Amino acid sequence: MPLNDKPFELIFLGPPVSGKGTQTELVANTFDIPHISTGVILQNIKAETNNPLAQEVASYMDNGKLVPTELVNRLVADRIKKDDCSLGYAMDGFPRTLEQAQYLSQITTVDRVFLINVSDEAIVERMSGRRVCKNGHTWHLKYSPPKDQLICDTCGESLFQRDDDKEETVKSRLEVYHREADAIVKFYEEQGLLSKINGEQSIEKVQQQIIKLLVTDLRSKIDWNKS
Ligand code: AMP
Repeated sequence: MPLNDKPFELIFLGPPVSGKGTQTELVANTFDIPHISTGVILQNIKAETNNPLAQEVASYMDNGKLVPTELVNRLVADRIKKDDCSLGYAMDGFPRTLEQAQYLSQITTVDRVFLINVSDEAIVERMSGRRVCKNGHTWHLKYSPPKDQLICDTCGESLFQRDDDKEETVKSRLEVYHREADAIVKFYEEQGLLSKINGEQSIEKVQQQIIKLLVTDLRSKIDWNKS
């Protein structure tokens, strides 16, 4: 495996509330690379009252539907071109469809894809406790509680439950996820890029497994470069 210019082009897949956002953030902090979340990018657009796209984006997100691929592809392509991605990035929320995965392969070289596996039953249990702030920091009232249930420990902003974490919306999101996920998983499995992680372990255990795999990847790339 050659050591490329950007050894950390990392994708995190998994159902909603699987903890992939938390894991992506931890990996981004560990390797000092940006955490890119299409969910956060779109939430921010939705919140911009002067942005002509805000209402359109809201009409999809608030109903648990996918935002049109053409728009999301463009947002991702612009984001990964930025200077802070010189070593790569840790991305969650994208790709969500096979079409998006194929598009990403056309514009960049993905190094590793982590699938955080969690059953539907566990997801419904987790959903009710998730809280986020407007900067995308994520907490869970039971599994990763902030000191104060209403305030983000990281940035001091207010915590809230996202509209798309409400039960009916989550069911619809799970349906969308299952419809698309198999094809994406197969796409990356065939390229030997996929690592499946049991997401029903503690946050620390999941993180340790991911870091171990990444360090192994890096070692083999460095060895390849030496030989
Ligand atoms: P997330 O924070 O990743 O759960 O995303 C929240 C919502 O943003 C989703 O339910 C979609 O409406 C939208 N969204 C995020 N990423 C994508 C994507 N890659 N393609 C289409 N819609 C997306």
